[in-house]
Amino acid sequence: CGIVGYVGQQNCKEILLRGLEKLEYRGYDSAGIALLNEAGVHIFKEKGRIAQLREAVDTTVDAPVGIGHTRWATHGIPSRVNAHPHQSASGRFTLVHNGVIENYTLLYNEYLQGISLQSDTDTEVVVQLIDKLVQEGAAAEEAFRNVLSLLKGSYAIALLDAEDPEVIYVAKNKSPLLVGLGDGFNVVASDAMAMLQVTSQYVELMDQETVILTENSIQIKDAAGHLIERAPYEALLDA
Ligand code: GLU
Repeated sequence: CGIVGYVGQQNCKEILLRGLEKLEYRGYDSAGIALLNEAGVHIFKEKGRIAQLREAVDTTVDAPVGIGHTRWATHGIPSRVNAHPHQSASGRFTLVHNGVIENYTLLYNEYLQGISLQSDTDTEVVVQLIDKLVQEGAAAEEAFRNVLSLLKGSYAIALLDAEDPEVIYVAKNKSPLLVGLGDGFNVVASDAMAMLQVTSQYVELMDQETVILTENSIQIKDAAGHLIERAPYEALLDA
């Protein structure tokens, strides 16, 4: 399973799909991408291989911002509905996640009673909860950070906000995730292999760090919200 994300100026659909193909070795049962452009968020997902996802993708849609996911199901059978990305009820937030949210039932019972979930995954509560906190008045980054502080388990997460289409929010805890630096774009991936097609400059992330990526900046923060400076390294691998 794995995650990819891209924020820049060029259309990224093909970069995301190629990135997911590079993560195929990690094993998965379904895959999906979300593309964010002026018209909004477009989600394509399928059970099966990336080849099947490619067939499901509308060839007329592309976007300069997007996230992608290959799923190894832990909660909920492999199916289109349970495949990531998952979207909040309002449609504002879209999220991909690798790992396991151990306390998802507790979180649902405590904060989300009455909200009907679309999937059987442990993941969906995360995106629904972020949306709920934003509806209650929190800024997106604050909601993201607050929800992360409630999670027990492992995660690599990438999040899109339809109302702030120039940003990708990411976080990691006990699941691999790297940020890749480009000229006029930035990317995120579970493995540098996925994004060697566009960059060889990577920044390592530590558990419980979050990153806000735009096309020309990355902002790494620790769990307390303090900014962290970390130099990139050069990935010496063949694409
Ligand atoms: N636990 C999540 C699910 O079952 C994510 C699994 C994964 O890491 O792909 O949907």
